[in-house]
Amino acid sequence: MPTILNPEVRRAVAERLRYYNQLGIYDFYRRSPASKLAIAKPHLEVPGSPPQPEQREEMPRKSAVISKPASEPVFPVLNPKPEQKVADPVAALKLIREDLGECTRCKLHQQGRKQIVFGVGNPQAELMFVGEGPGADEDAQGEPFVGRAGQLLNNMIKAMGLRREDVYIANVVKCRPPGNRTPERDECDTCSPFLMRQIAVVKPKVIVALGAVAAKNLLAINASMADLRGRFYDFMPSGSRSHDPSWQGAKLAVTYHPAFLLRDPRQKGETWKDLQMVMKYLGWKLPGKQE
Ligand code: SF4
Repeated sequence: MPTILNPEVRRAVAERLRYYNQLGIYDFYRRSPASKLAIAKPHLEVPGSPPQPEQREEMPRKSAVISKPASEPVFPVLNPKPEQKVADPVAALKLIREDLGECTRCKLHQQGRKQIVFGVGNPQAELMFVGEGPGADEDAQGEPFVGRAGQLLNNMIKAMGLRREDVYIANVVKCRPPGNRTPERDECDTCSPFLMRQIAVVKPKVIVALGAVAAKNLLAINASMADLRGRFYDFMPSGSRSHDPSWQGAKLAVTYHPAFLLRDPRQKGETWKDLQMVMKYLGWKLPGKQE
């Protein structure tokens, strides 16, 4: 059944959806009748009854942890994501990169970036690492985690019994924030739909968020590293459903960013504990452990 019949409204909505598509956002969902009721309810007041405490609707979160896409897209035929048409993950990632283009969607494009740092690695990796954004070395070479922090990440990957090319590595923002500052909320919000699409193509079993910025952006949870670490979260990329019904999302674990470990090497042991938790979940043999 068509959602909106009025052609003028339909045209206006289509225009708005095209705008969202340009931002890299493609999936839209109909609110279920049950949730409409849930929102309408607080407005009902019984005359003469004492005032009710304020009832707030929970802040909408981008997170995949809590977002469970409804079954029916509002405009099922309008502008599917380009990569949705291809099964080959290499080609799909290439289409996302092409869609990103010479991106000017957020202010980081005019704050000294040399190039966009898209992502690198095995497009069918079981394990994916996500950092916050490129630094100077990454900006110069166009690849995530290639400086000193990258070297440490490589060592972490090696300690897990893997090679760098076995995993997929990306960042929340794809352009270097000036002076290596933390990417701002609007920059993360603008860029992260492309990361979500990359995750939906790679379909990793586990994502390791490197550092609090990556973790908070992926999970939409504002918590300390102490609270974020040491457990798995269920993760389904928001606004970007996988095209593979057999992929039910990834487990997400949080550990320290390698750049932080360079400043505080005492935390390397804690990081190794996090990685061992991941290896155990994936059924990988822990180094030095007998069968
Ligand atoms: S950080 Fe992302 S959204 Fe911002 S300009 Fe770079 S690629 Fe575009």
